[in-house]
Amino acid sequence: MSRFGEARFLLSVASLAQLPPDTGAEIAFAGRSNSGKSSAINAITRRRGLARTSKLPGRTRLLNFFELAPAKRLVDLPGYGYASVTAAEREAWLPLLDALRVRSSLKGLVLVVDSRRGLTQSDEAFIEWARDAQGLHVLLSKADKLNRSEAAAALRSASERLGSRGTAQLFSALRGTGIREAQEKISAWLSLASSGSDAQ
Ligand code: GDP
Repeated sequence: MSRFGEARFLLSVASLAQLPPDTGAEIAFAGRSNSGKSSAINAITRRRGLARTSKLPGRTRLLNFFELAPAKRLVDLPGYGYASVTAAEREAWLPLLDALRVRSSLKGLVLVVDSRRGLTQSDEAFIEWARDAQGLHVLLSKADKLNRSEAAAALRSASERLGSRGTAQLFSALRGTGIREAQEKISAWLSLASSGSDAQ
C-alpha cells in the first residue's frame, strides 16, 4: 500500500518559528500561480481537496505542509508570478523560503510548469534560487491541452533547457497522465516504502 492516499494536512506555516522540526524528509512543490500546482498535488495524493485549487490565481499564500507518513512531508509553496501578491507578502515569504531551502530534510523540489508555456523567466529565477537544493523535477502540467507532437516537443525543450539541473515529465491532473511517474520520483526522494498500485 502506497503512502500517497494517506496524505493528510499537517500545518500552514507563516513564520519561521512554525516550521516543523528539520527531521525526516520533505519535497516542496513550486510553480507560477495557475500553473496547476494544487491540482498536481491533489492528483499525486489522490486527495481531491488536499491542496485547494482555485480559478483565482495566487490563492495559496502560506507554506502548507502535508504528511504522507511519519516525518515524510510534502510542502506546497506559494505560487509566484502573480501581480496581486503584495511586496509585504513577498517580504514575509522570503525568509521562510530561504529557511526551507537549507533544511537537511528537503530532498527535492517539484516545479510545476504549464506545458503550453514551458519554462518562463520566473521559473528560471526559481531554479537559480533553488540551485543548492538536492533534486529538481519539472511537471509539465495540463499536457492534455497539447497534441502528441506538441507534448513531445514540450518535453524535449524542457529537458534540454534543464540539462543536468533536473528532470522533466509530462503531467495532466485532468487525465491522470504521469501521476505514477511523479509518485515514483517523490517516493525515491523520500525513501518511501515501494508503492503498490496507487496510480491507475
Ligand atoms: P495553482 O494556482 O498552480 O495551484 O493551479 P490550480 O491547480 O488551481 O489550477 C489552475 C487552473 O488550471 C484551474 O482552472 C485548473 O482547473 C486548471 N488545471 C489544472 N490542472 C489541469 C490539467 O491537468 N488539465 C487542464 N486542462 N487544466 C488543468
